[in-house]
Amino acid sequence: MLALAIHGGAGSFAPESLTVERWHAYDAALRQALDAGFRQLDAGQSSLDAVEAAVRVLEDEPVFNAGRGAVFSHDGINELDAAIMDGASLRAGAVAALRHVRHPVSLARRVMENSPHVLLAGAGAEDFALEQGIELCARSWFHTEHRYQQLLRARSGETAAAECLDYFGTVGAVAVDAHGSLAAATSTGGMTGKRWGRIGDSPIIGAGTYASNASCAVSATGHGEFLLRATAAREVAARMEHLGEPVGTAAAFVIHQRLQGLGGQGGLVAMDASGTVAFAYNTRAMFRGVIDASGRRETGLFPP
Ligand code: ASP
Repeated sequence: MLALAIHGGAGSFAPESLTVERWHAYDAALRQALDAGFRQLDAGQSSLDAVEAAVRVLEDEPVFNAGRGAVFSHDGINELDAAIMDGASLRAGAVAALRHVRHPVSLARRVMENSPHVLLAGAGAEDFALEQGIELCARSWFHTEHRYQQLLRARSGETAAAECLDYFGTVGAVAVDAHGSLAAATSTGGMTGKRWGRIGDSPIIGAGTYASNASCAVSATGHGEFLLRATAAREVAARMEHLGEPVGTAAAFVIHQRLQGLGGQGGLVAMDASGTVAFAYNTRAMFRGVIDASGRRETGLFPP
C-alpha cells in the first residue's frame, strides 16, 4: 500500500506551552508536506521522490530545525546536514555542514545519484552543488529571529541545556511506493550552539537515516550524539532482519531501551514494506504525520 510518514522533531515541551496558533502553523506545514510527498506516490513516482518532496516542503518552513528554520551554531552560523537512502539498492547520499544550500535533501540525492561518494561535507559539498545546478542561497535565508534569540540565550548560559534540549526540530520522511520499495530522508540544522564542525546523526547512514527493503525505512530526531552511539536507524532494521521483530516492536526497543539506556532523548519514524508505520519517542511529544492509500491523512504531536 502506498504510504508516507513524516516527523518534524521530538520535544519535551508541555502541552500548555504550545498555543493553538502555533499548533496550527505546525499542522499546516505537516499536511502540506504529506500532500506533496503523497502526490508523488499517487502519480507513480518512487518512494525516493516522495520523501524528497516532503522534506523539501519542511525545509522551507521556518518552524522546523531544517533548511530555513535551522538553528545557529556557536559562531552564529547555520550549518545544515541531510541524508537520503534507497531501500531497494541500499544506495545512499548525505551532506553535512552546508551553509548556502536551500534544500540539503536534494543535494544529498545528487550525491547518491551523481557522485561516487556517500557523504560530502562543507565547501567541497557546496562546490558539488554548484556543479549540479542545485539552488544556492545567501546565508541570510537561514536567519530567523527566534533561532537567533535561542542562540543568544544558550551562549549567555541562561537557558541552558534545558531549552536547547527541549525540542529537536529536525525533519524526516519515510515512504513505500507502488513497487513496495522503501526510502528514507532526514534534514536538520543540528543542535543550537554546536561547535568545531560538529555533525550529528541525521546525515550518518545507520544513525539518523536508513532504508532497506529487507526491513524498513527510518528517520530519527533527537540528541544526535546519543543517536549516533546507538546506531539508532540501522538498529531498528537489524532487529527486524535478524530477530524477526515487527517494525513497532523494533522501533520501541531502540528508543525506550537502547537510546534511553544511553541517557539520550529523541524519537524516530519507521515504516515497513507493507506501509505499517511506527513512531517511537521518549520525549513528551513528536510532530508527526501519516498519509496512505486507504485515505488516512493524520497529524499528531502528543501521544494518542
Ligand atoms: N538529531 C539532530 C542532531 O543531533 C537534532 C534534531 O533532531 O533536531 O543534529
